[in-house]
Order: sequence, then C-alpha cells, then structure tokens
Amino acid sequence: MDATNGIEAALRTSEALQQGHFQLSSGRHSDQYIEKFNLLRQPVLTSQVCALIADRFRHQNVDVVAGPTTGGVILAFEVARQLGSLAAYAERSEVGDSKREFRRGTTFSHGARVLIVDDILTTGGSIRETLSALHEEGIEAIGVAVLVDRSDGAVDIGIPIDALLHMTVANWEPSDCPLCAAGEPLTKPGTTRIAGRSE
Ligand SMILES: [Zn+2]
Repeated sequence: MDATNGIEAALRTSEALQQGHFQLSSGRHSDQYIEKFNLLRQPVLTSQVCALIADRFRHQNVDVVAGPTTGGVILAFEVARQLGSLAAYAERSEVGDSKREFRRGTTFSHGARVLIVDDILTTGGSIRETLSALHEEGIEAIGVAVLVDRSDGAVDIGIPIDALLHMTVANWEPSDCPLCAAGEPLTKPGTTRIAGRSE
C-alpha cells in the first residue's frame, strides 16, 4: 500500500476523518474535520502510519526524531522507535505562548541529524516553533514529515515538508457557508479550554 492510501485508510478506519458542518479553530466553517486523536488513540494504526514516515527516512541516518506536543510527541516516539533513533519532545515554553523548548534534560549531540514529525499541518505554527527550538540547540533539521498537509501549500518554513497525504478542505466564512444557509447544525470540534490553542 502506498503512503497516501495508507494514511487515508487509517483516517477512515479510525473515523478521524469526519463529514458534517464544523467550525474550525480559525472561525471558518467546513464540511470536513480531522479528529486526529481518533487515530492517535489506536496504537496499532498509529504505528502503521509511522512506518510510512519511517520508510521515507530509513536511509537518511536520522539521529533524533523530534515532535511538538501533543500529537507530534506520540509520532516522534514511534517513528524514532522504528528507525532506531532517539526521540525529542518540543514542549510549550512556560514563558512564551508561541515558543517551544526541549526540556527535561534533552541534549543534542553536535551536528545531530534531526527529523521533525507532526500530525496535521494547517498553519505550520507548531513546526516553526519546533524549528526555532532546534535552532536554540544549534541544530538544523534535515527534514519535516507530517501525516496530512491541509495547508494548500500555503506554508513555507524554508525546508521541504514531506506529507503522506495532501488534503484540500473546503472552508467558508460563516456568512458565505452553504451549510449554514441549509440550516445544518454546527459542530465546534476539538474545543479546548484555552481559546485559540488547538495544537
Ligand atoms: Zn456554516
């Protein structure tokens, strides 16, 4: 099975890919939503999609696989396990809202080859923050891999982003939303306690 079919199957099997009428974290409305944790709660399926990433980087001498909290940490652990690498976890800094750091005694050897992994690419914010955290450790990432890129190519972080699946998600301002016009009930998925934080 190729990577695109593999991730699509995993998203459908786990019911992570949902159809309906959703308010995205941006405030816009959409007829599709990915509840990534429906997939990440299933270790066997998650391990299978991590294999699709690991296969692409198996011959690139990856020393460390780094991922941002929360989904990226799970993926970093498993991709690193499959590559025989170390894992590193980029956590939100306690001092800055859009800052991440490697805590709990994480160290990187000089010139370490670090692969960044994350789940769904939307704005690229968490990956940018992870790159910055690596820069502070004196490390340039060798690559970035995500399960799904739904940014429509709008994200430029200076290095290529390897996505198992590119997905265009139709979305509208509420005033232009055909589902609102049709009177479909609106769902606000993934609501977090801190406004604006969805990753
Ligand atoms: Zn709507």
